[in-house]
Amino acid sequence: MDRPRFKRILLKLSGEVLMGPDGLLIDPTITARVAGEIQAVRASGYELCVVVGGGNIFRGLAGAAKGFDRGSADYMGMLATVMNALAVQNALEQIGVDTRVQSAIPMPAVCEPFIKRRAERHLEKGRVVIFAAGTGNPYFTTDTGAALRAAEMKCDALFKGTSVDGVYDADPKKVPTATRYETVSFNRVLADDLKVMDASAIALCRDNHIPIVVFNIRELGNFARVLAGEGTATIVQN
Ligand code: UDP
Repeated sequence: MDRPRFKRILLKLSGEVLMGPDGLLIDPTITARVAGEIQAVRASGYELCVVVGGGNIFRGLAGAAKGFDRGSADYMGMLATVMNALAVQNALEQIGVDTRVQSAIPMPAVCEPFIKRRAERHLEKGRVVIFAAGTGNPYFTTDTGAALRAAEMKCDALFKGTSVDGVYDADPKKVPTATRYETVSFNRVLADDLKVMDASAIALCRDNHIPIVVFNIRELGNFARVLAGEGTATIVQN
């Protein structure tokens, strides 16, 4: 199937993508592999934004369920995303990819604050811009942060790197007959509560006409392949 071609894209990585098999929350080898995927895409000339989640370290909802105040727990989650962003930045720098981290919560000793025009300039200069701390507000997720940044930075598409190769009509781990969509509409995703991203992120992408491409980031070389219109993925679009 012919897939649309993009110039500026945003890659959303769940924090869990950085976890190792032996329980390391941020595994250097795996982080280096993810950085390699980003490097390959950057080298093909795409302008690349990255949003990293924090679920490998801390999730606000889970923290609140254990007794933390939800607001505080969410700020802890946002700080977790900054750690992940620094890890990805470091791994990218080690292989010669120029990057900047911009945080929605200003922390000048650690990284730049989010400034759209400055981010724009970085992209023009070929730098990979990693957006940390989600939206900067509790009660949101980094999925919504990714959709928000994709809209603000006028990205052509949001690539959701996961450990499955697309969106299925049922959970493929539980239902053996589950089939993968090649394309699926935003409204179908919302109506059937398909597990792509949370509902506010889906609605934001739908309203701003930003397709979401769901693909497996754990498969070597897959990010570049999917961008080239090859490889297995699902496109969520209007
Ligand atoms: N978070 C938040 N506001 C945001 C983005 C994230 O409060 O705009 C918090 C929230 O607690 C969330 C945690 O940061 O659970 C980590 O992000 P997320 O769960 O989205 O990470 P992922 O599942 O992508 O690894």
